[in-house]
Amino acid sequence: MLIFEKGKEGRGLSLFPECDVEVVMPEEKDRRERTLHLPELSENEISRHYTELAKKCHGVNDGFYPLGSCTMKYNPKINEEMAALPGFTEIHPLQPAHTVQGCMEVMKTLEEYLCEITGMKNMTLQPAAGAHGEFTGLLLIKAYHESRGDKKRTKIIVPDSAHGTNPASAVMAGFSVVSIPSGPDGCVDLEKLREAAGDDVAGLMLTNPNTVGLFDKNILEITKIIHECGGQCYYDGANLNAVMGTVRPGDMGFDVIHLNLHKTFSTPHGGGGPGSGPVGCKEHLAQFLPSVLVEGTEELKFRKPEHSIGEMKEFYGNFLVAVRALTYVMTLGREGIPEASQNAVLNANYMMQKLKDLYTMAYDEVCMHEFVMSLSDLKKKTGVSAMDIAKGLLDNGIHPPTMYFPLIVDEALMVEPTETESKETMDKAIQVFRDLYEMAEQDAEKLHNAPVKTPVTRLDEVGAARHPVLKYEFSK
Ligand SMILES: *Cc1c(COP(=O)(O)O)cnc(C)c1O
Repeated sequence: MLIFEKGKEGRGLSLFPECDVEVVMPEEKDRRERTLHLPELSENEISRHYTELAKKCHGVNDGFYPLGSCTMKYNPKINEEMAALPGFTEIHPLQPAHTVQGCMEVMKTLEEYLCEITGMKNMTLQPAAGAHGEFTGLLLIKAYHESRGDKKRTKIIVPDSAHGTNPASAVMAGFSVVSIPSGPDGCVDLEKLREAAGDDVAGLMLTNPNTVGLFDKNILEITKIIHECGGQCYYDGANLNAVMGTVRPGDMGFDVIHLNLHKTFSTPHGGGGPGSGPVGCKEHLAQFLPSVLVEGTEELKFRKPEHSIGEMKEFYGNFLVAVRALTYVMTLGREGIPEASQNAVLNANYMMQKLKDLYTMAYDEVCMHEFVMSLSDLKKKTGVSAMDIAKGLLDNGIHPPTMYFPLIVDEALMVEPTETESKETMDKAIQVFRDLYEMAEQDAEKLHNAPVKTPVTRLDEVGAARHPVLKYEFSK
């Protein structure tokens, strides 16, 4: 039931005392023609309404949530406590720098740690999400070529195993995209890359691990080919949880990187934000970074780089996400950071090994933090699709993995267990996957109808896409 259907005229909350100053109404022309349809409910009705909604959702606090390429992990609650400290929340972006030195120290320390982890020289915390970071990084590359009078570089090479935002960001930044196919091993086809590399190439964007969960074994060769043709190398580090503390993109030859603090560095991810997509770069690109870098030792100051591409977002980025990330990095420390990523990789490989005798793996190789199965064979054999299996998982208290992505794998399910799950949780999930496979063979119909135990059962997805109902029609 919608909150609009629950209200009763005249009911409400009276938290405020009666107004004791003169009420001044806006001029007639500025007034609404109709009164607002605000639901009228008491405090406990509102509270119950939202609790009821929350109970109908599946979140990381309810159970396993192996949504690949999204890193839905359990985030330590101490991060939330730090981000809720009044010293961080009760400040204003226009406050003079000398009154927010502690907050500036948070930004500076996080920048330094992230540079250390990625092998970069400088980092901006301004971008608000991964795709926003990509856009920022590409503008740095553009500014770099333009500053050298090199105007013919209009192309960005993007392998077909890249995250979908990569080509989109390249187009947004005014480049044309050259797509490079993957080889049968899921890695970039080096021959095709060599063919595409030329003096019109501004750079390459590499998602690594790529969207099929593999670390490109030719990564050093890839950056070499691009640098030799005069291009810059961009590392999509949204999923740094696969490599952090073990290898550094900067050491592999990359010039620019973005991170997703709302994936790897522990900010609850879902519901649409807030996120943070810091961009790090090597020294030759630092002069183009967006403004508000923090510098200084005694008194910290904000600095705008000399040839800055300008503001990518108002003020300082999503600061409280940075607070959570810093808390995360500091609580894990030098030993904990690689341990977290190694557990993420171990967990994904464990599940993959325990399922691959039944489910066809898209690439039967050692994976990184996630693996991709193709349910193509199962569908041919039984009619049960990736979607049906995903719906069956819901009946077992498991959030579905990412479905039908990456696009280069038919009937794809992409599973990312994350580093925060125990062996017992994964064993249970493995059993559920195996049971569903058996059910597909024996009673496919049952899976076509799943889920049956959730608050909403099988949705009419075609209807929802073709005739979406996006607003509530009031009866009066
Ligand atoms: C999630 C993701 C992105 C996009 O990040 P947003 O914060 O959703 O914009 C980019 N690249 C990869 C590899 C990702 O997993």
